[in-house]
Amino acid sequence: MKNIREQFPLLKNDPSLVYLDSAATTLKPSSVVKSISNYYENYSANIHRSVYRIADKATDQYEKARAKIAKFINAPTDKSIILTSGATESINLVANSLCGNFLNHNDEILITEMEHHSNNVPWQMIASKIGAKLKYIPINIDGSLDLSTIDFLLTSKTKIVSVIHQSNVFGTINPIEILIKKAHSVGSLILVDAAQSISHSNIDVKKLDCDFLAFSGHKMFGPTGIGVLFGKTELLSKMQPFMGGGEMISSVSMESVTYNDLPWKFEAGTPNIAQGIGLGAAIDFINQVGIKKINNYCNELRDYAFSELKKIDGLIIYGDNIEKGPVISFNIDKVNSHDMAQLLDQFNICIRSGSHCSEPIMKKLEISSVARISFNIYNQIADIDALITGIKKVKKLLS
Ligand code: PMP
Repeated sequence: MKNIREQFPLLKNDPSLVYLDSAATTLKPSSVVKSISNYYENYSANIHRSVYRIADKATDQYEKARAKIAKFINAPTDKSIILTSGATESINLVANSLCGNFLNHNDEILITEMEHHSNNVPWQMIASKIGAKLKYIPINIDGSLDLSTIDFLLTSKTKIVSVIHQSNVFGTINPIEILIKKAHSVGSLILVDAAQSISHSNIDVKKLDCDFLAFSGHKMFGPTGIGVLFGKTELLSKMQPFMGGGEMISSVSMESVTYNDLPWKFEAGTPNIAQGIGLGAAIDFINQVGIKKINNYCNELRDYAFSELKKIDGLIIYGDNIEKGPVISFNIDKVNSHDMAQLLDQFNICIRSGSHCSEPIMKKLEISSVARISFNIYNQIADIDALITGIKKVKKLLS
């Protein structure tokens, strides 16, 4: 563990920092930071355009990152990996690009009440634009999906199902294998939002047979400004590009445009080159540590935190009895979660507070906000002990 913590400059520079907000963004190992500065210091040319050597090197490194991502999720080909600015752009891309060939007026879109706003708002926008119907799989108060409704909600009109893999609020790990089979049984496509699960789960898109998978680089030890959309190539090749511009074309005349091959058809303009290369380094980091080890370790921390939090009087955990990832949301008595987070910051402890871009969940639970802690490989038992001591002090102060 000491060795792993030493690889994170933020923890090296401030060893007393207790960072418990990896669900918002993970810390970055020095290998990722170095890969980015190395690009800017030694070969910061644009890609896919120029014939000189540093441009060639930049293109090569960027495309190598794409290949690493494909291998990481077991995608059948690099062509199925679209590099975006993040999970949000990946989902917006699918919502917009399905229109026409796959999604039309009167069709139905099915999401869940558990979605992050980034997998809710794009669908609301598209539904109102084209006159499609947006339906929701309800959630139970314990933070699980109410799957008893699924056969009723899925109809022959359902054209796309879009579901969160791991909840950013409850930590719920949703049964995506079942949902993928159910969606396909009525001829619908399905997108899995893996933003929360990607850094600690073994995701195999071939085995899952999902049509689309979206995630962000910054939640898996990579830089901000880079994300991924996996899509089956037979679908991507029939979808309309989301954005127009340079590099996404194969030819342009005054009257018409023909599009570039996959994946570049969906990558208009100069991409986030340094960030793409940085994401490649993040995947190297995960592979070096081992995704199984990350998962097991995060779960150990979660279990310890869970049992210690439960000992605190008046503390309610949301999503208590469900299969969950390394995320715990809670409230204490009448303590406002923002006050809790602000006071914990005085002890150099970072936790999240608020509605977590999930207002429909807050409405369902009839609360306005929750405090949230989340872990990754650089956390330690001592972080949780510091948190528990901090919470007790805050509780005393505010009561
Ligand atoms: N989906 C989930 C489940 C998330 O937690 C987040 C980020 N909190 C997103 C999507 C959006 O990710 P980004 O802001 O990196 O695009």
